[in-house]
Amino acid sequence: AKVAGKNCYRFYSRAMDQAVERRVHLEHELRGAWDRGELSLVYQPVFRLADGKMVGAEALLRWKHPEQGLIAPSVFIDVAEQSGLIETLGPQVLRAACEDAVSWRDTRVGADPMFVSVNVSPRQLRSGDLPNVVAACLRETGLPAQQLHLELTETAVIGDEVHASSLLSRLRASGVKVWLDDFGTGFSGLSHLRRVPVDGVKIDRSFIADVLRDPDDLALTTAIIAMAHSLGIIVVAEGVEKEGQYAVLRERGCDLAQGYWLGHPVNAQEFLVLLG
Ligand code: C2E
Ligand code: CA
Ligand code: CA
Ligand code: CA
Repeated sequence: AKVAGKNCYRFYSRAMDQAVERRVHLEHELRGAWDRGELSLVYQPVFRLADGKMVGAEALLRWKHPEQGLIAPSVFIDVAEQSGLIETLGPQVLRAACEDAVSWRDTRVGADPMFVSVNVSPRQLRSGDLPNVVAACLRETGLPAQQLHLELTETAVIGDEVHASSLLSRLRASGVKVWLDDFGTGFSGLSHLRRVPVDGVKIDRSFIADVLRDPDDLALTTAIIAMAHSLGIIVVAEGVEKEGQYAVLRERGCDLAQGYWLGHPVNAQEFLVLLG
């Protein structure tokens, strides 16, 4: 048993070394990836449930590694966050998303302007510079502030609500909308909404996934919608994969939705085609 234990230990430690090594390697490669054109944004359409109209899109980052192919954002965003690379990458993403959104406006003369929704990582928020970065981006691209939405996770806000609240207030005062992402997965839940000023919450897709099967998830989703609305906050459902989910969300008064049933993320050119 002792020998097996030793082997086990050796096995795990080697696996761990490899994981660390891969991370360091990824970090190194991620550093120049934007300039080499390996990173790009895809856009997933967001729909208004009341009339079924497309009203905006969420920007999602993609990394096409020259040898490894597509690397999941859940992997490389984490690397960027841990290493601090996100502090240069984040503003580049923001800038590119604003530039693309300006071109959507041009294709929709007379129609409602489409918003673009950009994910902001906890470290980007904590860097404190975010309101300035956002202001510069809007000024230089000409995108109206109302058409930019920022998505923050609860973890970005938790622990330092006072600082976060003042940052969010500054951003909102400029006209940018702020949404709380992955809502319902954190510990704070609804009580948070009293202290952190946001315009919307995105119900995490784990709730939506079971909304037709699990009465608890339906009850929670319904409660989130009611509570948010009573606070003047709009509700977005993500991960809508079935018509039934769409129907029940619409019936419960959810405002916006996105998901594979409605539309997959597509590149900027394909998105322009969607706009017609
Ligand atoms: P997220 O912000 O929760 O983004 C939604 C994720 O759900 C996306 O995964 C999207 O492709 C996926 N999705 C959309 N509809 C469906 C559906 O109907 N079913 C299922 N199962 N999934 C759906 P993706 O693109 O792999 O992104 C994963 C996470 O990486 C994002 O989660 C976000 O936290 C992060 N991320 C992506 N792009 C950026 C970025 O530019 N900046 C930052 N800071 N984070 C990003
Ligand atoms: Ca998001
Ligand atoms: Ca989410
Ligand atoms: Ca469940």
